[in-house]
Amino acid sequence: MSRDWGSLFDVDTDSEDLLEHFDTEWFRGQRYRHLSDERHGIERGTALVGDVVVRGYPSMPRALVLEPAIRETFDGPVAIEEKLNGYNVRVARIDGDLLAFTRSGFICPYTTRKVEALLDTEAFFDEHPEQMLCGELVGPENPYTDHAYSEIGEIGFYVFGVRHRESGTPMGVERRLDQCATYGLNSVDHYGTFTPTAAVDAARERIDDLNARGREGVVLKSTDGETALKYTTSAIHRADLEHAFELPFDYGRDFVFTRIMREAFQAVERGESAAAVRERAQALGEVILQPAVETIRTVDRGDPVGETHTVRGDPKIIDDLLSYFREQGLELHVEHDETDGEQRVVTFTKIAQSTRDKTRYYLEGGTIDE
Ligand code: ATP
Ligand code: MG
Repeated sequence: MSRDWGSLFDVDTDSEDLLEHFDTEWFRGQRYRHLSDERHGIERGTALVGDVVVRGYPSMPRALVLEPAIRETFDGPVAIEEKLNGYNVRVARIDGDLLAFTRSGFICPYTTRKVEALLDTEAFFDEHPEQMLCGELVGPENPYTDHAYSEIGEIGFYVFGVRHRESGTPMGVERRLDQCATYGLNSVDHYGTFTPTAAVDAARERIDDLNARGREGVVLKSTDGETALKYTTSAIHRADLEHAFELPFDYGRDFVFTRIMREAFQAVERGESAAAVRERAQALGEVILQPAVETIRTVDRGDPVGETHTVRGDPKIIDDLLSYFREQGLELHVEHDETDGEQRVVTFTKIAQSTRDKTRYYLEGGTIDE
């Protein structure tokens, strides 16, 4: 079967050349393809299921200094929303099946099942069969992230975008909020729409409040949904660093450097006093050193180190999920495996191999040239 994906994508490239970069995967016995890296302007995570194209969610720029970045980015009204810290999921209905795609375009068996159970999307997709719901999956029981939100028990899906599946064109912000309300879909918090000048103060106020509550940050968007800008709290920079230093040899140095620079620019934009900067520096130091010390001790005891998650569901789905991770080359350590009624509840650690191996090496006297 030959298809002219080039025209579907509406890009000026040889469709065969583009197709070569897609990886093949299987879901419920059906073959699909996905693009793990951006190519020819086609977003990372774009998937092809049969002859249906599901475009990736675009990467968005980050502001390090809010005021000039807002001024440079927007020339019309700016909507401000909460940026939730979970994982990006696109939900599409294809041949009657609801499918959940992760950021890199995998159809995740666990997320697909959770979304089926959690959301009532029938009416939405009857009305908008060509659209996909883009949202953040958050909550303690998921296999990818572990940020806790007090309002979310097990798992929740919060819509932040509705996009045309094939072209990626976003629905405008107001209409998207309205459609979410109409179809009973949860949406990320919307803080209002402002002129670019007013948006600076509004974003700052929100950031202060979100920071105090340990939440991640804001996303600013043009009202047509085309342009977006993200900005994050000090609380999340610290949380990221703490997490990175729990697994210091698995998180790249870039990861650490970028968080430290976000803190530095934030301190300058806020015109912080020497005392305030010192307080920031101390908090930063604590989240760097303490988890690293703890991890070295854990390895020394011979205990597993890595990212620990709990998942709950139909035993078959849990099996599928664990095999899906193992096929991706992850080493898993199962901490608990129990049955709760019909459901299987598993807590497992994705072993951080570099951290385990390098830490062990140094503990056993390994040396380093530096
Ligand atoms: P990139 O944007 O370069 O892909 P990333 O994958 O590291 O970066 P983040 O830094 O978390 O992602 O920022 C973008 C992500 O934020 C989106 O992909 C989405 O999953 C998430 N997100 C949370 N809330 C929102 C929101 N209100 N609007 C848009 N995206 C949001
Ligand atoms: Mg994120």
